[in-house]
This record gives sequence, C-alpha cells and structure tokens, in this order.
Amino acid sequence: MAVPVSQAWTVATYVLKQKLKGRKKYPLVLMLEPLFRCNLACAGCGKIQYPAHILKAELSPEDCFNAVEECGTPMVAIPGGEPLLHPRMPEIVAGLVARRKYVYMCTNALLLKEKLHLFKPSKYLSFSVHVDGQREHHDFSVCREGGYDIAMEGVRAAVAAGFRVTTNTTLFDGADPNSVRAHFDELMTAGVENWLAMPDLPRDLTLTCARGTHTESMPENIIGALFYVAKPYALAVENQKRGQWVQKAAQPLTGKTLGILGLGAIGQEVARIAATLRMRVIGTRRRPEPMAHVDAVLPPERTSEVLAQSDFLLLLLPATPETESFVDAGRLAMMKPGAWLLNFGRGQIIKDDDLIAAVKAKQIAGAVLDVFRQEPLPAEHPFWTTEGIIVLPHIGGPHPQRDRFVARLFVENLGRFLDGKPLKEAVDRKTGY
Ligand code: SF4
Repeated sequence: MAVPVSQAWTVATYVLKQKLKGRKKYPLVLMLEPLFRCNLACAGCGKIQYPAHILKAELSPEDCFNAVEECGTPMVAIPGGEPLLHPRMPEIVAGLVARRKYVYMCTNALLLKEKLHLFKPSKYLSFSVHVDGQREHHDFSVCREGGYDIAMEGVRAAVAAGFRVTTNTTLFDGADPNSVRAHFDELMTAGVENWLAMPDLPRDLTLTCARGTHTESMPENIIGALFYVAKPYALAVENQKRGQWVQKAAQPLTGKTLGILGLGAIGQEVARIAATLRMRVIGTRRRPEPMAHVDAVLPPERTSEVLAQSDFLLLLLPATPETESFVDAGRLAMMKPGAWLLNFGRGQIIKDDDLIAAVKAKQIAGAVLDVFRQEPLPAEHPFWTTEGIIVLPHIGGPHPQRDRFVARLFVENLGRFLDGKPLKEAVDRKTGY
C-alpha cells in the first residue's frame, strides 16, 4: 500500500527543517515499545525471555505521549511484544493520531480481527502485520500452527474495514526464491475493492486496474473447466492408475446453455469460444446491450432467468457490497438440477455454507471454484473434502507473460496521462469496479 502524499510531505518537511537547523543526525521514526510481553513464543525471541516483572510492565498513554513529544519525529512505530495485548492501546493510538503522528503498529495479528472495532481507520494509522512467508514457513517461524491463517484473516478484515495495512517479512539466508515470490504474490491479492476502501484515497484520483490483462488466459482456463466437468478424462486417469478399462460417454457441450453473470471482456471472450462449440450463451450485464455470440443479455434484476436456464453457470462478477454472498441458498435453488457452477470471479460472491449444502443435497451437479474468500484456502475448509466441489488454486488468470501485459497497459496509460487523454481501464468508483 502506497505512502499517502501527506505523509511523504510531512516527512520531507521535517527532514528539511533538520537540515536548516544544521543537524547532521536526527531521529526519523520513534520506536515506541509500550510492552514486551507477547502472545507468541517464537524460538530465539529475546523479548519474551525477560523476567516476569518486566513482561508485566507497560507504559501508560501519558508515558507514550511524553516520549513522542520529546522525540518529535513525524512517524512512530509501535513494536512489542504484541501491542494489541496492551489494554490501553486504542487510547494510545488515538492520542498519537490526534497529534498527527504517522503510526505503524507492528502486530502478529492474532488479535487483530477481534480488536479492530476499537480503532478508527485513518491515514495516520497503519497496521504492519508480520508475515514470515507462506503458511507452513510462517507457522514454523512463529512456532504456532494456524498462526498464518489467523494473521491473514486479520489482514483481510482490516483492509475490508478501510484500514491501511502493510506487511513485513523477515527473509532468512537460504530462503527459497520461488516460495518468497509465491508469498508476495499471495500478499498482493488485495484487489481493487480494497483500494476503494482506503480512507484517504483522494476523491479526484483516477484509479485504473489491470482489467483486460486476463482476457487470454482466463477464457481458456474456463473452457478447460467446462471440458473437465463434461468429459470423463479425470475418471479415465483414475482408472488408468488401477489398469481398468471403463467406458463412459462424455457429456456434449454442443446445445447446452452457458449462463454468464458479469458479461465483461472475459465473459465476452468465453462466449465467443463457447459459440464455436455451438453452445447457447445468455448472461447478465449492468448495462445490457446486444452482444456478439450471446443470445440474451439481461440486466442483473433478471438473474433468476439465467439461473433457471443454465446448464453451466459462470460467475465473473466483481466483489462489491451488492455481490457479497450473491449466490446463496435462494439463488442456488433456482438453478437446474444437474447444473454446474463455475466461479472465476471473486470468492465473496458465494455463500460457502449454502453452496456446500446444495452440492451435498445434489441440488446441483457440483462446482468448480478458482477463487475463495480466503486464499490460500485453509486446510480445514470443507470445500476441500466436499464431493462435487473442485478446488482450483486461483489459476484462472495467471499467465506467464502477465507482468509484461500489465507493464504494457501501464506504459500506454502513462502516455495517455501525459497527453491528457482518457485512461484505459479506469475504475468506476460508484460501481466499485
Ligand atoms: S512475535 Fe515478536 S515479540 Fe512475539 S514472540 Fe515472536 S519475535 Fe517475540
């Protein structure tokens, strides 16, 4: 998450003042440690080795404010121990924000979700969450199984509530570069909806997104998922392992109806390919208009018609307040028995428990899910083990050349910006995408 312009300005002004005063050395960030105790016990941590009377001690809000006034830095980092264990931490943070200090609260985030309501989103406050790599690596590093999932849940809750959130990661000598890369990719799955939740996002700032950079890989992967559920290839592979020759007729795609909720660029490309398979395509779009290869483009209010007619229902909706848990028990009940649900949009669109219940009751044939409320999908999530639900590890969009596509779009937009032309793929703040 980028540093706010006001913060950059405040720090630059502070540095300039120090230079004008002829100071060669001056503090920039105050490390305020109001307590040493922690709710983790990482191997080798020096803090938690202190005697009990020190671990019980904590600074009062007044102590903190005096230290901050005396130091005078524009930024205050609050490490620990674990700051969220301090019973008066919300008061301390509120006092620092009132003093216009840019506060970075370093936390292991185990308590972040449950204590979030005690804080107010502000451009002055950032939660800096310590995440030491992918799930296994992080849990090993902090000696706590399940720590990663709790921390990531806290991160998502904070971002969704409009807080500024950064993460910090310790990279040890010998760290596996692929794992580090995958870790940072995971952390980057915030999505545009989280940018829109930022409290200090200037009203006149134009946000653009990487929409359109998935139009090559995602339609192919969606068509792959259609073939996967309609044709008995997976069964043949299983039977091959046992040396068994079992013939099962493949379900034809020709003549079947593909319903697409969210007929944007990706949906239209899927429709084009599906039409070549002689499938019938229908779908919804916020602003319906006739579209090549689509038999009926309906407004969102007529979603029920799409649900009732589709043999395959593809979700490509964005995450907005309106689409939260959009596919719930009521809408699943409108689908054809024997229909497949494919979600390549956002995890939040589906009410997880309702989908599991519908698949278990054989109300629909099953679901192919490429996106989830929490990614990676936690090991204990019932999606993993529900027969009829196929879990894909968010492989719909990635393309070996994705960075190049995004860079090309960025460069093109930079040129447009400099020429005063409208930017491509601008985000509509009203619709949220
Ligand atoms: S989270 Fe930090 S303070 Fe807490 S035990 Fe681990 S290293 Fe020590």
